[in-house]
Amino acid sequence: MDCKKAHNNFIFYLDNELNYPEQKDLEEHLKHCTSCQKLFDDIQSTYSQTDAPKISENFTQKVMDYTFNRYAQTKSVKQFIKFARNLAAVILFMLVSLSTLIVVSETNKRQYAKSNNSSETEFINYYFSDLEVYNLESYYNVTKEDQ
Ligand SMILES: [Zn+2]
Repeated sequence: MDCKKAHNNFIFYLDNELNYPEQKDLEEHLKHCTSCQKLFDDIQSTYSQTDAPKISENFTQKVMDYTFNRYAQTKSVKQFIKFARNLAAVILFMLVSLSTLIVVSETNKRQYAKSNNSSETEFINYYFSDLEVYNLESYYNVTKEDQ
């Protein structure tokens, strides 16, 4: 390990963030390099005096829990919105279908009634007109024969 690499690793070493071989390398370098050793001692004394805010042990877990909970909430809200939207679409479709069905059946009923009435009226008209003609003719014939 050269001096530059050693300097870069000082802070990581003090934070216990070096893996074991890196840690050993730095310690080896400090044993043999007096300038780095001096610098390291300065940094260590300064670093230990600073009141860096201590992060609680389960900080990461708390952040992850919080993030996951937020994510879960967002996901369930999104799922609910999706479900509600689909439900609304289904209800709308059913309403449209139902109203179309009602309109069609009403139209059919009216058309059926209309056609029935018209044919019935035609039939009655035809029947009575025929009857009338017949009656008139027969009456005419009878009266004619009688005369
Ligand atoms: Zn050095």
